[in-house]
This record gives sequence, structure tokens and C-alpha cells, in this order.
Amino acid sequence: MRKDERPREVDADALRRRYALERDKRLRSDGNDQYIQLKGRFAGFLRDPFAERVDRAPRRDHVTATFVGGGFAGLVTGARLKETGIPDVRIVEKAGGFGGTWYWNRYPGAMCDTASMIYLPLLEETGHIPSERYAHAPEIVDHCNRIASQYGLADGALFHTEVTDLEWDARRCAWIVRTDRDDEFTSTFVAIGAGPLHVAKLPGIPGIETFLGHEFHTSRWDYRYTGGTPEGAPMDRLADKRVAIVGTGATAVQCIPHLAAAARQLFVFQRTPSSVDVRDNEPIDPGWFANQATPGWQERWLDNFVANMSVIESPAEDLVCDGWTDLAKRIRGRLAAPRQRPADLAEFLADFENADFEKMSEIRARVEAVVDDPVTAANLKAWYRQLCKRPCFHDEYLSSFNLPSVHLVDTDGKGVERITPSGVVVAGIEYPVDCIIYASGFEVGTEPTRRYGFDMTGRDGVKLSDYWSGGMRSMHGIHVHGFPNAFLVQLGQGGNFIANVPHNLTDAAKTVAAVICHMIRNNFDMVDVTRQAEEAWIAQLIPNPVMTSFLADCTPGYYNNEGQGQSPWSLLVGYQHGAPEYFRYIDRWRASGGFEGLEFS
Ligand SMILES: Cc1cc2nc3c(=O)[nH]c(=O)nc-3n(C[C@H](O)[C@H](O)[C@H](O)COP(=O)(O)OP(=O)(O)OC[C@H]3O[C@@H](n4cnc5c(N)ncnc54)[C@H](O)[C@@H]3O)c2cc1C
Repeated sequence: MRKDERPREVDADALRRRYALERDKRLRSDGNDQYIQLKGRFAGFLRDPFAERVDRAPRRDHVTATFVGGGFAGLVTGARLKETGIPDVRIVEKAGGFGGTWYWNRYPGAMCDTASMIYLPLLEETGHIPSERYAHAPEIVDHCNRIASQYGLADGALFHTEVTDLEWDARRCAWIVRTDRDDEFTSTFVAIGAGPLHVAKLPGIPGIETFLGHEFHTSRWDYRYTGGTPEGAPMDRLADKRVAIVGTGATAVQCIPHLAAAARQLFVFQRTPSSVDVRDNEPIDPGWFANQATPGWQERWLDNFVANMSVIESPAEDLVCDGWTDLAKRIRGRLAAPRQRPADLAEFLADFENADFEKMSEIRARVEAVVDDPVTAANLKAWYRQLCKRPCFHDEYLSSFNLPSVHLVDTDGKGVERITPSGVVVAGIEYPVDCIIYASGFEVGTEPTRRYGFDMTGRDGVKLSDYWSGGMRSMHGIHVHGFPNAFLVQLGQGGNFIANVPHNLTDAAKTVAAVICHMIRNNFDMVDVTRQAEEAWIAQLIPNPVMTSFLADCTPGYYNNEGQGQSPWSLLVGYQHGAPEYFRYIDRWRASGGFEGLEFS
């Protein structure tokens, strides 16, 4: 904190009232429908600004394994499959290269919010030493290319290619893969890692289609317009520009300091402030790293982080020790206070709430300490519990609002009123701008087949969209009954550990490789999960009532399906006993070699 200000005493009742008031202001009946898909008039927003499409002949061959998506999920699964000796793993990717999230999100300041030591997969295998505690996007993309090259995944990859259809061919016991480049090839196995946050969306603001200035989404940053580079060269072409950024979520928090430094005028349009905690990024000292990097170090760090994020584990140390683990540590600290008998549910909830009030009060006090203008500071304070929305961490975001060229336009929860050919309107006032940057995020709560961009036809002609019409069904978030030799590599219905998404992916990759390896060794052609095993798994996923009521009280956002109650596609559904227990359970499941619930033939 810049000013010496301590958090004030917490008035729990007043906070509860304020949180409810702020949530109610933002609740709206249209939920996910308030956003616009990037189609038709808006399809141009999706053009890849980073690589030219290269012509190639359509593929009509056969491969052992195909992976949809070239992000971490595709890379780590591909790497594990290569390790098992499969020579031909084909990654198909809409983008012009590997990286997934980090290929697309090259906005200035883009960096991971989860510590590099656990966020970057396969560090031990590749020997890469992260340069910073929280790596920036260019380093993450380089790391993706390092994995691809080390495991021989680059040669077979098809870039700028969108999978448009997957169809099970029972006669050939293989999947037919079709793409928008006229490919039609077969694959013994398919896996899908289309990404939890890959489909960009726009806010449905009246008049959005009428704007005549320049505009783009943060996941397709237009450096030709702004100048600068993802590596940090200043955006010199903004020096004479009035720039609007719409949205103040995790992306905006990272890029606003850079826009603030570059633009003649920056208008930040805010519906809901993010909670912005301390970042404390710093270079990683190779000497320190060498001490950590004893065999098995990354697994130890992963296990340690997931344990530290839990309130029921008792980790002896906190290796990452940052803003993510802080809240759980505070809750554990309260639960550990001496009492006559173990805490009951009401006491547990009270400890959780009090720790949260304390934490959020500190985060709000930080705003007041850093931001000079009292009105701006008041508007930047987040009035909800920390895990209601994606927590943010940054050390330059708040101070950006002290620059005279930066203007926070708070909409009091309502969002932008209108967009005109020349600007953005809030509360009847038009702010004329040259450029609008949409930091409006990604689809989360919509149907998976809409986000994949294709449907799948499994056994007996059953479509995945029909099989999932009542919600996602799977075992472990990986196997879907009736869709043999197909695997999902994602977080929902598995460990569902959102504080470190790659942990879920690297773990699922182990499962996919173990199952396929088992099939090859035993000459099996087909694997499917039994209906009973899938049902039993789904039954234990019944959302935890504590989590459901917690989310219902939250201000709307993608964590709580925009305040619409549980989405059948919710990201926040996972193993009943929590992520650490899931990772232990699935380790045992794999190690047993019996693959209970799967049927091989
Ligand atoms: C800006 C940003 C910051 C983030 N920071 C963090 C963080 O700090 N910590 C954290 O845990 N998570 C973070 N995430 C979440 C992040 O998405 C995951 O950590 C991780 O990168 C997901 O990897 P993935 O391979 O599952 O998906 P992605 O990286 O999204 O890759 C999926 C790929 O599939 C491709 N694809 C989709 N459909 C098709 C199709 N039909 N045909 C061909 N290709 C297709 C997409 O183009 C995409 O490249 C962040 C997300 C964003 C957007």
C-alpha cells in the first residue's frame, strides 16, 4: 500500500447488505444471451492478426490420434502420447500456431496469474526455467513451441484449420475427422481440448454495429493500429488517439496500464470492478530454481498448490505462497482456532465469510491507498466475496487511474448505454473516441458443442448435442458413453481446479495416454465408458449446497453463470470431495491398471 492505511473494522451486516445491493443492480434476466456471438457482421473480429493462412492440400489419410486444439491440452496430451510410442499424433488448430489461449491473447501486459512454476506444463521434462514468477504471454507461447518441438508435434499439425465434424465409423472402428479446409481423414482416437475460454464474445450494447472508428477484441490485439509489440514495445501509434476499453475484468486489468501509458486519452468503461490484489512479480533466480529442481519437483509443487487452495487439507508449507493461497490459509487459520469441539457447518461458513470480509476489506483499502481521486477510488472498489469473480492481481493497474489522461467511466452496474458511430454513451453523456477495445471476455456457460464449433456423431448415429441436451455427462470429465475412443481434456466434471487450469489438463493427459497405451499393449480396438459408470460418476457431482448458495449471493459473472443459477455446462462442477482428493483418486484409478468403468473390446 502506498498510503499508510490499515483496513477498517469489518461490519459484517453492512457488508452483506452492500454486497446484495451491488449484486441486485447487476442481475439481469438475459444471462448469457446479453452477449453477441462473433458471427455475421462481427465475424471480422475473429480474423487471426498474427499469421497468414498458408495454402495446403486437403488430408485424406489415417492417423492414430487426432487432437482438436493446440493449447496446453493438445500439447501435453500429444507429448504423453508420443512418450507411449505413438508416432502419428495430429493436432488440428484454428490458430496459425501452438499456444491456444496464449496464441490468441497477445494483448500488452498479458501474463499468467497462476505462478509460472505450476502454470507452465512440462517444465521438468523440457528443462525450461521460467524467467519470472508470473510469465508473460510471449514466454508462454515460446514454451508451447518448445513442447511441440521436443515431442515432435509440429510436423503433423494442421494450423488455420477448424474441425467442423467428428463422426464415429463403427465399421472401421475409427473417427472420421472433417475440417473447414476440406480435410476428411480417419483417426483411431480423437481428443478434444477446445479450451475453457476460447470463444470471444462482445457485449450486446445497443448500436454496437454502428461504430465507425477502429475496434477489436483483446484476444485479437491489433498492433498494426496501436503500434508496439506483445514483447512490450510501447504502443506509439496511440499517442494521438482517444481510446475506449469496455470491460474491467482480468484482461483489462493487465492491459490498461499499457494503454494508459500510450493513449492520448483512455476511457475505461466499467460495469463491475475487479478485485485487484498485490502481484509482486519478480525474476526467478536460476540459483534458487536449481535448489527447487530436484527430481519430481513440478509434481510436488502442483500437489502443494492444490492442497494450499483447499480449506480441508493441512499442507506443511506453501511453496507458491501468493494471493491465491492467501484466502484458504486465512480460513484454515480460523478453523484451527482452539474450540471445545470440531467446527460445525455454521461455524465453518462463518469462518469462511469472516476471512473473506477481512481479505476483501484489505483489497478495498488498497484501492483507497493507491488511487488519488476519492470518487475514482470509490468506484474501483469491489463489493463481493473474493471468489465470486476471477480474482485479479496487479501492481500497476490501480495507479494507472492517477494519470490525468485516464478516465474511469463507471456505469453503476448498468453497463454501457449505447454505442454511436463516433463514441460510447453512459448516462446520456457521449464520449467520442477513435477506437473501442472490447475486453469483454469469452463464452463460458453456453453449450459445449457451440463452443467446440462442431457436433460429434457417436455410436448408432447419436449426436453429442442430443446426448448432452440435459447437460454435460461424462466420467472423470474425460469419457462420454457412446463416444468410443474419444477423450475430453478439460477441467469440468473432473478435478475442476480453476486456480490452475493446466493441472487438470496435464492430469487428464496422463489418463488418455494410460488408456491408449493399455489398448495398444492388449490389442484392443475400442474403449467406451459404461453407462452405469458414467451415471455413478454424475451422481456424485451433485453441486455442493455450500457452493451453490455462495454463488447465488455473488454478483453476476461467468463463475455463477451470470447469476442465472447452475448451468448444465458449469465450469464449477467437480469431484465431490474436492480437487486434491480427485487427483489422489484418479492416480489410484490409473495405477490400478483395471480402468474401472471403461469397457475394452
Ligand atoms: C487471458 C487469459 C489468461 C489466463 N490466465 C490463466 C491463469 O493465470 N491461470 C489459469 O489457470 N488459467 C488461465 N487462463 C485459462 C486458460 O485458458 C488455461 O489456463 C489454458 O491455457 C487452457 O488450455 P487449453 O488447451 O485447454 O485451451 P486453449 O488454450 O484455449 O486452447 C484451445 C485451442 O483450441 C482451438 N480450437 C477450439 N475449437 C477448435 C476447432 N473446432 N478446431 C480447431 N481448433 C479449435 C482454439 O483455437 C484454441 O487455440 C487464462 C485464460 C485467458 C483467456
